[in-house]
Amino acid sequence: SSFLLLSLSCSDYLALPAVGMEIKNRLKDENISLSLPSQRVDRFDENIANILGGNRQGSLTFAPEAGTQRMRDIINKGLTNEELLRGVKTAHEQGWDKVKLYFMIGLPGETDIDVLGIAETIRWLQQECSTPGRRKLSFNVTISNFTPKPHTPFQWHSVSTSEFERKQKLLRQEFRTIRGLKANFTDVRLSAMEDFVGRGDRRLSVVIRRAWELGAGMDAWWESLDRAFAAWTQAIAESGLTWKYRQVESGEWNLIEGTSQPNSSLNSNSANQPENSSALIEKPIPHPSLDAPLSWDHIDTGIDKQWLKADLQRALEAAVVPDCSFEGCSHCGVCGADFGHNVVIQPLPIPQFEGHFKPNQERVQRLRVWFGKQGDMTLVSHLDMVRLFDRAVRRAALPIAFTGGFHPSPRISIANALSLGASSSGEIVDFELTKTVDLAEFQEKLVAALPADVPIYRVEAIAPTAASATKLLERAEYYIAVHALTDSPSDATPLLAAQWQDWIEMVKGAKEIYLEQTTKSGKVKQVNLCDRFFELSLVGDAECQNLPSDILHYQAESQAILRYVGSCRNDGSLLRPEQIVFMLEQMAQRQFQLLHTHRSQLFLSSVGVE
Ligand code: SF4
Repeated sequence: SSFLLLSLSCSDYLALPAVGMEIKNRLKDENISLSLPSQRVDRFDENIANILGGNRQGSLTFAPEAGTQRMRDIINKGLTNEELLRGVKTAHEQGWDKVKLYFMIGLPGETDIDVLGIAETIRWLQQECSTPGRRKLSFNVTISNFTPKPHTPFQWHSVSTSEFERKQKLLRQEFRTIRGLKANFTDVRLSAMEDFVGRGDRRLSVVIRRAWELGAGMDAWWESLDRAFAAWTQAIAESGLTWKYRQVESGEWNLIEGTSQPNSSLNSNSANQPENSSALIEKPIPHPSLDAPLSWDHIDTGIDKQWLKADLQRALEAAVVPDCSFEGCSHCGVCGADFGHNVVIQPLPIPQFEGHFKPNQERVQRLRVWFGKQGDMTLVSHLDMVRLFDRAVRRAALPIAFTGGFHPSPRISIANALSLGASSSGEIVDFELTKTVDLAEFQEKLVAALPADVPIYRVEAIAPTAASATKLLERAEYYIAVHALTDSPSDATPLLAAQWQDWIEMVKGAKEIYLEQTTKSGKVKQVNLCDRFFELSLVGDAECQNLPSDILHYQAESQAILRYVGSCRNDGSLLRPEQIVFMLEQMAQRQFQLLHTHRSQLFLSSVGVE
């Protein structure tokens, strides 16, 4: 499990090292890693490395944003090459072999040299961080396309899909020459949609509604992108707008180009392309259109528009504005009676690092627990059940033993995976503990930490040397609700118990019912299901009433509830409920539908049980 400190920029929180270290120390005896979404590389030091490191070292993400110092100054990133190198080097020295980096292209004032500077920066970092005998530092790089946002100095900036594409191509070519680099580029269509919506006016509401009607939604998901982009394109066209509608109407998006002339592409007939014109900035030129009203001007964020204009000018001159938390106020307008004042609280001292989690591998007591899976919990997968027990044990503060190695995991072992959707009143799970715990106390604590739909029936102590339930498992008893399918509704005459009985007897009498199975290695083999079959019977009405509600619920809908016992071994030889249905189909020469499966018992071999 992991403990994530979630915020947009948690490194800005000055007390992060102190708070992070305190959390890390408190979780010292738990198998929980601490992670942060992304952090300021200039604040990454040994303390943060200790907080994030350990056996379950999480991934590390830094966001230098731009590839050259000049660009980082334009966007006022406040990060020098030296700081970037120091942070990445510290990460490498502290054991990270892979670092995620986040960059943007299409920033105001960006030239091709700045774009290629991203590749240059990665190459330089790799070279500077190379250590003899150590694996080369590798990078996962995300390149996103800058889309300006309202209420920022770049709210006037124009972006261009074709420029994004050209720069992506340039960078892709350059990346090919770098080993140990995995790059991920944001789809330009996503950026076009983001930009269109990001700086829209009232006319946008019709487009948004129409795009949604046409199937847009979850647009950032790669599998939704084609559909979303087509929906947006159609919705924009139907509204009589174009992808660059604001630019076409007022031209203001080009005002920080190297020319103050209105955009020559206004008459372009490619207006339906997601194309906002842009050009590289040679020299910042103030433009009277900066004073034109913007559709979000009526929203007061506290920041003065005049200040944004001045800040844009400063940005284009690559003048760094210091962080007002520490140095000088540039009078942006936020501080005052409405929003209060910028107050910096000095962080608490960083506690002493008490070391990483050391898994306790001692095994003193083994407990075998019988549990059920009912109601909504039937929809929880096997893997999630494993996690559920892990969390429950931790919540209940039970002294669970751990495996060793690089990825220590709690010694909790579920005897056999139950198919998704099946209910059960007979599952088994083994626990190994570092201390002896009273059985009743163990059960009580575990029940309190588990959902009510995972009932605990009993707990037994087994010898520390005994074989696990996984190894001892031999057979399983199931109740299945089955329905006989008919060719047409008119044939749907109720089947008599005697008819079911006949089919059951045929299955029981059969010596060979083969099923073709493909092994993991792709080999096709014929499996005789009769070898895995032990018992089959029709459950009478009286017996049905004693069944758990999960299967009883299907009594009316199904035509029969059958009980069977089949092989259930973890070496792959098991008789699944669908296979019993297959056996019935082979004998009765008709089709059946399996409505529900309930596992009522697991049988362990008595050999090895102490
Ligand atoms: S101190 Fe307040 S007014 Fe001054 S720049 Fe910072 S946020 Fe703006």
